[in-house]
Amino acid sequence: MFTREEAQLLDSKDPLALLRNQFRLPTDSDGAPLLYFCGNSLGLQPVKAEEYVLREMRDWARHGVEGHLHAHFPWVRYHEFLTEPMAQVVGALPHEVIVMNTLSVNLHLMMVSFFRPTKLRHKILIEYSAFPSDRYAVESQIRYHGFNPDDSLIVLEPDKAGEYVSSEAIEEIFTQHGEEIALVLIGSVNYYTGQAYPLKQITTLARKYGCNVGFDLAHGAGNLKLNLHEIAPDFAVWCSYKYLNSGPGSLSGCFIHEQHADNFNLPRFIGWWAHDKINRFKMSPNLKLMRGAEGWQLSNPPILPMACMMASLEIFEQAGMDALYEKSGQLTGMLIQLLDSIDNPSINILSPVNRDERGAQVSIQVTNADRSIYDKISSSGIIADWREPDVIRVAPVPLYNTFEEVYNFYDTLKQILTSYE
Ligand SMILES: *Cc1c(COP(=O)(O)O)cnc(C)c1O
Repeated sequence: MFTREEAQLLDSKDPLALLRNQFRLPTDSDGAPLLYFCGNSLGLQPVKAEEYVLREMRDWARHGVEGHLHAHFPWVRYHEFLTEPMAQVVGALPHEVIVMNTLSVNLHLMMVSFFRPTKLRHKILIEYSAFPSDRYAVESQIRYHGFNPDDSLIVLEPDKAGEYVSSEAIEEIFTQHGEEIALVLIGSVNYYTGQAYPLKQITTLARKYGCNVGFDLAHGAGNLKLNLHEIAPDFAVWCSYKYLNSGPGSLSGCFIHEQHADNFNLPRFIGWWAHDKINRFKMSPNLKLMRGAEGWQLSNPPILPMACMMASLEIFEQAGMDALYEKSGQLTGMLIQLLDSIDNPSINILSPVNRDERGAQVSIQVTNADRSIYDKISSSGIIADWREPDVIRVAPVPLYNTFEEVYNFYDTLKQILTSYE
């Protein structure tokens, strides 16, 4: 069993330990440090973010409109500085990735191109416990095309008595409905259970049955080791404020596989930023689309949140997803072992124990508890997250959380549970 001393030892040997200094760590009103385990919901602020935002504010003050060309990082090209590091994070080619809009917006834009229902093939497959926004978006697209979600929405259900979705269940739903599915839209890590779905298996099955396939990587980008180019879904979308630490409401990332890079006949909603950038400012009424993901852009993007993103992506470039994923597995592995050792039948770990089937998030179901347990956790100086009816979500983030913090969380939870017995 892990002890606090062992946790400290792991921290002292952790090659990524110094990255923590590159983040602002939350404190309580007296300035005492809090245990922050909510990077799955809002990642912490990179220290450099403030400086980078101020740089743009100063460039705006100094240059006015000329900042588009003469800012330190010229604004007309600002998003391009983010493309390469973002592509690295998700394992894509640079021209497959674009930072633009926000997540739900990009999900709609991608469905415009990749949800093309017909009479015989009009269904969308989503996961059980899908994030509500995704469900609303998908249902609205179904209605927009004149279909009814009662007929056209299929849910990938978990196995009997539980929250876990097995490979067999995935295979089975394609066998039953594959020919009717127009689009498969699955998260990489489910926001509620923390299960990381087998993206390769899902893509292979989707191809076998002729369905389009897209992934919502809101809980996967910056968390899992992804190789989107190789897995080859049609598209993927993700936000940048969770594991990617780019600030509240910051921009979304969007992936469109290379196989569609030159497919200008795909239906899409278009704005001027999709136009060939060399001649964009000639303002011609004749559209010439850019190839690749850039050809899905609508607007000139907001510079200030991109400045935050630049600060965050620099840290990902230093760390590398391989090392982060490695440490992440150790942190959650330790947390799960410690939780298992708490001799209390009301604790049930919803997230898969198998490393390949989870990311940084561990969802702990506490049966027979109510929100008061979470309130006690909060008042002990821990920032985690409560999901009705009875789930605590905890995400130790390898960029800034320590092994000792994981130990402290366990120790606190154990004491709180004792008071419930
Ligand atoms: C966080 C999250 C969202 C939020 O969408 P926004 O458009 O950024 O508000 C949507 N879907 C999933 C799966 C999420 O985890």
